[in-house]
Amino acid sequence: VVRWARAVEIVKELKERCATPIGLLKQVADAMAVEMQAGLASEGDSKLKMLISYVDNLPSGDEKGLFYALDLGGTNFRVLRVQLGGKERHVVKQESTEVSIPQHLMVGSSAELFEFIAAELAKFVASEGDDFHLSVGSQREIGFTFSFPVKQSSIASGTLVKWTKGFSIDEMVGKDVVVELTKAIEKQGLDMRVAALVNDTVGTLAGGRYHDKDVVVAVILGTGTNAAYVEHAHAIPKWNGLLPKSGEMVINMEWGNFWSALLPITEYDQDLDLESLNPGIFEKLISGMYLGEIVRRVLLKLAEETYLFGDTVPSKLRIPFILRTPEMSAMHHDATSDLRIVGKKLNDILGITDTPLKTRKLVVKTCDIIAKRGARLAAAGVAGVLKKQGRDTAGGGKQRTVVAMDGGLFEHYTIFSKSLDATLRELLGEASRSVVIKLANDGSGIGAALLAASHSQYK
Ligand code: ADP
Ligand code: MG
Repeated sequence: VVRWARAVEIVKELKERCATPIGLLKQVADAMAVEMQAGLASEGDSKLKMLISYVDNLPSGDEKGLFYALDLGGTNFRVLRVQLGGKERHVVKQESTEVSIPQHLMVGSSAELFEFIAAELAKFVASEGDDFHLSVGSQREIGFTFSFPVKQSSIASGTLVKWTKGFSIDEMVGKDVVVELTKAIEKQGLDMRVAALVNDTVGTLAGGRYHDKDVVVAVILGTGTNAAYVEHAHAIPKWNGLLPKSGEMVINMEWGNFWSALLPITEYDQDLDLESLNPGIFEKLISGMYLGEIVRRVLLKLAEETYLFGDTVPSKLRIPFILRTPEMSAMHHDATSDLRIVGKKLNDILGITDTPLKTRKLVVKTCDIIAKRGARLAAAGVAGVLKKQGRDTAGGGKQRTVVAMDGGLFEHYTIFSKSLDATLRELLGEASRSVVIKLANDGSGIGAALLAASHSQYK
């Protein structure tokens, strides 16, 4: 029989351990700002890498001409071309195509991978219609969004630090990704130059800025999470190059690695992080790849200790990552009186049949605890960035501040995004009146093309 009292107790404990009272969140925001400072001061003294993007000019809206973008960051890559019409006409025309990368190329050789990409790029360029116009005598230019950790040495060069997300080509680590792509482009006989190499957060920031001049932060909440923002170049002690004319530099925070003793971490998160190929606790607590998995771990504990789902533990419940965040979200949003969507999901995904209503309620409660903790911590992260920028107070907040958000988690998990928004308002108080969160759907592709434009050799 179900040890009901114990089950309720486990969830109650979870709620206590995951609690994010506003006072704690303010401290987390402060800690984020402090870690940012440490990461800017020197290499390796902070969990936050605070990578220098070499983007010192964001799009102004004046960009003109034909530009390409290539977005590689997961199992698919995207190629895009855009005809920019300057201040008046903005995006005149845009076309894109998506290609999935064959599994064997993710673990083969770098030459093969880039040859495949360049061949697809060449096909796409060949399909360019008469409504796209390249200035006479100029070479096609492309912005390359490469969403893996890269140590950049200029706007158009950088070496791969390590692969993530299923890619594993050892010989590529330490090599310049632009050199590899350029070799492959030349081999295709394609006359094209890589003008910018950018992280997807930086692309999102650029794409956001093009549409709204007040965008100063970009946050990704999708499979993973990360953020980029505009920093004063003179406030980056580890930067020892010339100060850019604009006085600004975009920083790729790599915030998935953020850690603070203040974070409300449970044994479930800790175990998950220890078993993970990509350690980084902040990412575990707030991103789409992991929220459902944390819920699964809690449900497993309930099954083992309280027989919540029967005398034996449902075997599927032992399979890591079987409960995906979109399914968790569907259960969490279940508005039926008998929580029949929860019942159906438990049945379809985990093979758990005939759950009574109070069990379903406990499952929803678990989703609620994990989702709200994530959303509130993400809000604290954003507040920390705004604090670092001096945009977190009513006085400093006279200027409008826009945060560009991208990612399936923020876009589709309504309870999550509403909670994030409400928490940010709570954290900022008065100052929140000048802060806007804007969904920047897939801004990173166009962002990379825009950065190619602003770093064009013909400018
Ligand atoms: P990526 O981060 O890989 O570029 P996306 O931005 O498209 O991809 O985000 C995809 C992620 O968003 C999924 O891995 C999932 O975690 C999350 N997601 C997608 N749809 C939903 C949904 N309906 N509810 C909650 N999370 C979702
Ligand atoms: Mg993405």
